[in-house]
Amino acid sequence: MIENEIIGVMNLNDNEKGLYNVGDLDFALNVSEFVALSISNAMLYERAEKLSVTDGLTGLDNHQQMQTLLKNEVVRCRRYNSPLSVIMMDIDHFKEVNDTHGHQKGDEILLEFSAIIRKFCRSNDVAARYGGEEFFLVLPETQIAGALHIAERIREEMASKKFQSKGKDFKVTVSCGVAEFDSAHMQEAANLIKVADLALYKAKHEGRNRTIQGSADDILDA
Ligand code: GH3
Ligand code: MG
Ligand code: MG
Repeated sequence: MIENEIIGVMNLNDNEKGLYNVGDLDFALNVSEFVALSISNAMLYERAEKLSVTDGLTGLDNHQQMQTLLKNEVVRCRRYNSPLSVIMMDIDHFKEVNDTHGHQKGDEILLEFSAIIRKFCRSNDVAARYGGEEFFLVLPETQIAGALHIAERIREEMASKKFQSKGKDFKVTVSCGVAEFDSAHMQEAANLIKVADLALYKAKHEGRNRTIQGSADDILDA
């Protein structure tokens, strides 16, 4: 036990009668204390490691972790020539939502949105909180058509959701920018993020609550 919490159970059997004596019990207790301490340290380490890659509010991966995982995926995609797409999402007029309904309601909306993102994630996808009200999805083995489909389903689900404040219903929408890694015109993860970001910018510019597909040409035009 560590601080009154059971860390584990150690079972010692005597296969022959009289194999242990009372003195052995002291030894076993000493050993179990060391074992408990080691296990408890390992658990603490694991918890700290998890916290360092996780966003505190939503439980999604944080920005740093998403960058690391996306870089790995880009390397894999270049090596095996497998498809890789990303979706960048940003809540529309979120400042206004906070101003009208309060910061706490805003946090609730961030949580609801992260739950929707999770719902559409497959096991190898990476879902991250990119920044305040910006989210990012990394979709390995996915071409642009599949990514557009997922982005639209997420966007539609959010748009159809009713939120409540002071007894009144209100809606919140999101805009999405989608991009597929194009090894002929992109070198690294940053290029892919840039294309998704430019597409998101276009989605905002064209009226929000929509999904726009980006292309490597957008970097040249920007
Ligand atoms: P746009 O449609 O162009 O994206 O407009 P916007 O208002 O969403 O964009 P803007 O970047 O002006 O505002 C983002 C807002 O998100 C401002 C900030 O207070 C809010 N925000 C960022 N992080 C959090 C958070 O953790 N909780 C809450 N409640 N609000 C947050
Ligand atoms: Mg926004
Ligand atoms: Mg934003």
